[in-house]
Amino acid sequence: MDGGIFVNAAGVPLVAILDRLPPFTGAPIRIEKAPGLRDRRGSVYAGSFLRERRIAFDCSRAEFPRIFVHEVFHFVWLRAGNPVRRSWEKLVKRELVAHARGELGWSAEWRKEALGADDISRRTRRWREYCCESFCDTAAWIYSGVSRHEEFTLATRSRAGRREWFQRAIGGRELQV
Ligand SMILES: [Zn+2]
Repeated sequence: MDGGIFVNAAGVPLVAILDRLPPFTGAPIRIEKAPGLRDRRGSVYAGSFLRERRIAFDCSRAEFPRIFVHEVFHFVWLRAGNPVRRSWEKLVKRELVAHARGELGWSAEWRKEALGADDISRRTRRWREYCCESFCDTAAWIYSGVSRHEEFTLATRSRAGRREWFQRAIGGRELQV
């Protein structure tokens, strides 16, 4: 098996990770290394350039599977369609109403902590970003093969709900990216 639609310009071991993921379909996505990667908030592990169809990353080998899956699911989210995105929103909204603590990655966690009641009811950009990041972090938790990580802090009951949602909405399907 090769890298499928992924153009592995970084020379990273992709095959083992792709074996755990659902199949993808779409135009090629380039994976490249970008030492010293930053965004407007400081240094970051990775960035997805959705229109340019590339993922740049700067992280350790140990962190790569989790980071890679997170970034690929940014492409999945973009093409998932409104019914799937709205269904995910409903799930994480229910968790918030039930005061579920923690997350499955720092990217979702700091956004969750910054949310106000208004963000949820008005579906602000902050809320929509949280929904997207929690979706990507959950995918990374499910598919990366990493079972324990200090950033996996979400309550057990919510983890089960997210796994079920992914099985229903994502599992076994060819994903458009
Ligand atoms: Zn992200």
